[in-house]
Amino acid sequence: MTHRIAVIAGDGIGTEVMPEGLRALEAAAKRFDIDLEYRHFEFGNCDYYLEHGQMLPDDWFDQLKDFDALFYGAVGWPEKVPDHISLWGSLLQFRRRFDQYINLRPCRLMPGIKSPLADRQSGDIDFYVVRENTEGEYSSIGGKMFEGTEREVVIQETVMTRTGIDRVLKYAFDLAQTRPRKKLTSATKSNGISITMPYWDERVEEMAKKYPEVSVDKFHIDILTANFVMHPDWFDVVVGSNLFGDILSDLGPACTGTIGVAPSANINPEGTFPSLFEPVHGSAPDIAGKGIANPIGQIWSAAMMLEHLGHQEAGTAIVDAIESVLAEGDAQTLTPDLRGQGSTESLGKAIAERIAG
Ligand code: ATP
Ligand code: MG
Repeated sequence: MTHRIAVIAGDGIGTEVMPEGLRALEAAAKRFDIDLEYRHFEFGNCDYYLEHGQMLPDDWFDQLKDFDALFYGAVGWPEKVPDHISLWGSLLQFRRRFDQYINLRPCRLMPGIKSPLADRQSGDIDFYVVRENTEGEYSSIGGKMFEGTEREVVIQETVMTRTGIDRVLKYAFDLAQTRPRKKLTSATKSNGISITMPYWDERVEEMAKKYPEVSVDKFHIDILTANFVMHPDWFDVVVGSNLFGDILSDLGPACTGTIGVAPSANINPEGTFPSLFEPVHGSAPDIAGKGIANPIGQIWSAAMMLEHLGHQEAGTAIVDAIESVLAEGDAQTLTPDLRGQGSTESLGKAIAERIAG
């Protein structure tokens, strides 16, 4: 079976790390005999916007909807196009129209990477953040009254649906079930947010009944963020609403060192639409064009993509290759953010060679 992959490199270092993501994919495909077919798209970047006045062509949905996955670099060039335009005009369109209701981020401290948390070593931090990606606090429902007066009132509603909560919980419980520790932590704030969050808790309790093997706990978001820093080793799978998940999915990878290594996935689990795989980092205009961006976030995203497409073994081989190159710690190979003197290409090539076995 051939997997069809739409490749959108985007802007800035997105265009530099993408070739290394593809190099890793090729190496894994060859070793594990996986049939991948790529198609490169030149939209979803700021140059396209400057030429066409929009980030995507009108028929982007039809052009992309039948692919098995989208492999994305990074988007944004704030000097030329404001971030809200580039982001809303591309990635956020994909998330919405392709109903990618799961945002998944592994938070894993890799060997040779220094965590900003004191005394943490590789192996201590290894969990996933599962964020609800479509509803919750990020609704556009609300309004302003008495604008411009001292009586100004602003209101923005949170919208949670039973279907919306249950589907993200199901994904998180399923994931926890596959993990050795089988532990799920729910982010809540039912002591302060008195209607939606107690409902979220209720749905967690209901879902937990279907997963007797998974141990479940919950923390209020305030103490949960503190515990990410103080006890990251406690966590295995952490699930949160759109806002709480957003916060946790930045904090989690931050606890594991350089932003250049973290991957992420926006998933439509049913496969009705393609899922999207991209590094956590953005286009990093400050280092773009220098060939020194760390490609690991992109390469690790490739691993998540292969796992999503059913090639668990190939995904694991890529992550193992990343770990092995990092553990070796050859300064000539590693990029400057890892205190090396190497380049995007030297690091990408070293990992691809290791994947090839
Ligand atoms: P966004 O707006 O999406 O957050 P950004 O371009 O403003 O994106 P990031 O790309 O997230 O910011 O990165 C912040 C900083 O971290 C960059 O300016 C860069 O110095 C560093 N950085 C990010 N990604 C990498 C990478 N892959 N390799 C090395 N350094 C990186
Ligand atoms: Mg930015």
